[in-house]
Amino acid sequence: MKALALNFDTRAIEWIEQEPPEFYANRDVLYEVHEVGVCGTDRALASFRLGAPPPGETKLVLGHEALGQVIEAGGGVKSLNRGDWVVPTVRRACKPACSSCAQGRRDLCVSGKYTERGILRLHGYFTERAVDHEEDLVRVPLKLVDFGVLIEPLSVVEKAIARALAVHEGEPRTALVLGLGPIGMLAAMALKARGYAVRVHSLEPADHPRAAILRLQDIPYEPDLAESADIVIEAAGSTEIALAALQRMPPLGVMVVLGAADGAGLVPFLRMIINNQTIVGCVNADPEAFRAAVEDLARFDRRALAALITRARFSDLEKSLTGPPMVAPKIVHVL
Ligand code: BGC
Repeated sequence: MKALALNFDTRAIEWIEQEPPEFYANRDVLYEVHEVGVCGTDRALASFRLGAPPPGETKLVLGHEALGQVIEAGGGVKSLNRGDWVVPTVRRACKPACSSCAQGRRDLCVSGKYTERGILRLHGYFTERAVDHEEDLVRVPLKLVDFGVLIEPLSVVEKAIARALAVHEGEPRTALVLGLGPIGMLAAMALKARGYAVRVHSLEPADHPRAAILRLQDIPYEPDLAESADIVIEAAGSTEIALAALQRMPPLGVMVVLGAADGAGLVPFLRMIINNQTIVGCVNADPEAFRAAVEDLARFDRRALAALITRARFSDLEKSLTGPPMVAPKIVHVL
């Protein structure tokens, strides 16, 4: 099978030939990979700022936002059949399992020895076929197949929103999303679907094509940040933008950081104390977040979802990983 991998010895991206995945047994499912999305993590991996190959190997096959179709399921598989569409989760439990992993919350792994497909010590999905355990696959309803590849990034957003709501001690009404990338756009859509007055702030000019996708859904886009909100979802990757929103946050405000880089700046601790505010770090997603992602995808505006995705050929993958950032929020490679 052809696969796209990072070579950690030569620090180059290369196409490799990979053995087809080990034949499945019992609760394993063999599926054909149809589409794989590219995100900021993949671009960071491609510049060797993140990631590691499996133990004893020097290469890591990339790709963690996949959509596939089941070819065959092992005898013990109960919920999936040949022809079903699936999205794999990314993280796998540490061994021996820590208290979180043992309870099915690998997203909260406390040993740090978890693995992530296409990111950390496990090969990913930029290839032709894959095998996963039934419990690591989310079934995609047929009517959502066109957008199924968004389920994994949306699951990250769903966990972030659930965290913000669990932590907020009042009655949040307003929401601010930082960042115009796919995570920011999906967060804005999910918050709007829940009835919050949501705005998006980022550095792109007001006439940027991505801002037009927000306008399609009546979500205001603000290149200048005047005020913050009860709930802030940070997906801009910038310390300055995160701190600017934090400094303006109302009492009880909660900011969930998903992408901000390490950086220096004024952290308004005193203001945060006086106003009972919270900053929450958040990564990956739990099973509930994947369920919420499937539900939300079904109620989002299909025109907006279609506008989020630009499909490209498998062979053009290197360009999306290392070339200049594209205008389209989400590049999806079709295998
Ligand atoms: C993925 C998560 C993963 C995180 C950190 C993100 O791009 O969507 O599933 O946990 O990167 O590796």
